[in-house]
Amino acid sequence: LNEVIDDSTNCTICLETMAGKGSECGKTFTEIKQMIDGCTNNRIGVCLDTCHIHDGGYDLNDFDSILKDFDEIIGLEYLKVIHLNDSKNICGSHKDRHENIGHGHIGFNNLCKIAHHELLKDIPIILETPYINDKAPYKEEIQMIRNKTFLNIK
Ligand code: FE
Ligand code: ZN
Repeated sequence: LNEVIDDSTNCTICLETMAGKGSECGKTFTEIKQMIDGCTNNRIGVCLDTCHIHDGGYDLNDFDSILKDFDEIIGLEYLKVIHLNDSKNICGSHKDRHENIGHGHIGFNNLCKIAHHELLKDIPIILETPYINDKAPYKEEIQMIRNKTFLNIK
């Protein structure tokens, strides 16, 4: 990062929270913070992926305390984007297999709460959920989240 980012870089590079499979770095906020501290420029942000942090061992039933942790360890001002995904596996599984919204182990209510969270209202949210019957499910998933009502689209 120090080699590729310089003063002419007019974008922010976001480090994404990771599920922790194999030797992956970035599975805890402390690891992300270490990477930020090793960067000699201020063009670094963080992307929080809900599937990855759940697989990494963060319990999304208590998202407020996760955000508090994020703020204390990294600083909420670094949070630039959310990847909103459900997970095919249990908390702490270190797998990184995305699931459609409401069909996984994070669950619709937890994901909906995150999408509507007051502290995240200016942060873009991106879905990275699997295709259903070779079709992108994003329109229906966005609608469900907007309406705060789960619909079984599988
Ligand atoms: Fe992601
Ligand atoms: Zn992933």
